[in-house]
Amino acid sequence: MPRKFKIGFVIPPINDIDVYAQDLGFIAIAANGKLEGFNIAIGGGMGRTDQAPKTYPRLADVIGFADVDKVLQVCDAVMQVQRDYGDRVDRGRARFKYTIDDKGLDWIKAEIEARLGFSLAAARSYEFISNGDPIGWTRGEDGREHCTLFIENGRVIGTVMDGLRVIARIHEGTFRITPNQNLIIADIAPEVRPGIERLMKKFGLDRLNGASGLRLNSMACVALPTCGLAMAESERYLPDLIDRIDTILATHGLTDEPITVRMTGCPNGCARPYIAEIALTGRGPSKYNLYLGGGFHGQRLNKMVLENVGEAAILDMLRKVIAHFARDRQSHERFGDFAIRAGYVAEVKEGRHFND
Ligand code: SF4
Repeated sequence: MPRKFKIGFVIPPINDIDVYAQDLGFIAIAANGKLEGFNIAIGGGMGRTDQAPKTYPRLADVIGFADVDKVLQVCDAVMQVQRDYGDRVDRGRARFKYTIDDKGLDWIKAEIEARLGFSLAAARSYEFISNGDPIGWTRGEDGREHCTLFIENGRVIGTVMDGLRVIARIHEGTFRITPNQNLIIADIAPEVRPGIERLMKKFGLDRLNGASGLRLNSMACVALPTCGLAMAESERYLPDLIDRIDTILATHGLTDEPITVRMTGCPNGCARPYIAEIALTGRGPSKYNLYLGGGFHGQRLNKMVLENVGEAAILDMLRKVIAHFARDRQSHERFGDFAIRAGYVAEVKEGRHFND
């Protein structure tokens, strides 16, 4: 393959892997409790470079439906197309998203179907309602219980680490790290749950999920000091910035409003910032680009509203938009949708127009 190639599976209605950010995504379609197959999404990817308009984030297009037993064939055919037509000269354009835009989606789909030896069926209907994790306790069809803990930016430290270590001594299931940087204590027998809940309370893990709607939907990449490409702080700074944005939200009674916010230390986009309703990507020490208008369930790219600015300018802009949102939002309107309707940013309908 010319470069990395990401594949993800998702079960609607929770788009908790950001399926539209994958090179190849499978959206599960079930009927009467039985998995029938998958809608196929191709061509997602976040990475871009500032000052290089030939690079841009792109959301995957859904091109059809395939039965469960065709999944490996679909993987094979799609990857063959990228293997044969992906850019092997310009590393900055070596991802599948650019191959699709260079050749055209219809051409790529026809090429995939030629290699499959059959046409994909029409995509089935489905609905996503968020791209965050369902936080807290859930029960599986088999009666086993699962508890998703909000772990801010994936940092398992201090008493959180202490508590998880103690829980691990009695927990017979698994621990799972989610694509949203959270942690699931998974596969718990109902009779074991009270003991785990006691330990969660003892170590304060039960309080993790009580964060604001903004914080529960936040994500930052590692950036400084771990990543050599970072130009600005990210995971060490976002919690403090959220404190300040939460203060603004609280004055408007929006503390529990779920809003996605993501930060990265450079434009490469490892925390999938270009899908968030509020996003910041590092430009230099304490300087960021600010983006607004992403889709709450991962269905729309955002758009830059401020370039290379510091915290004061970021908070000034957010103060204005949040106050306007609190005053004029329509029933159930999401923050990202409002930012577009109110004219703060234009809607980005295709990745190749992200930099326009
Ligand atoms: S997005 Fe963050 S983790 Fe990814 S390369 Fe940039 S600074 Fe590093």
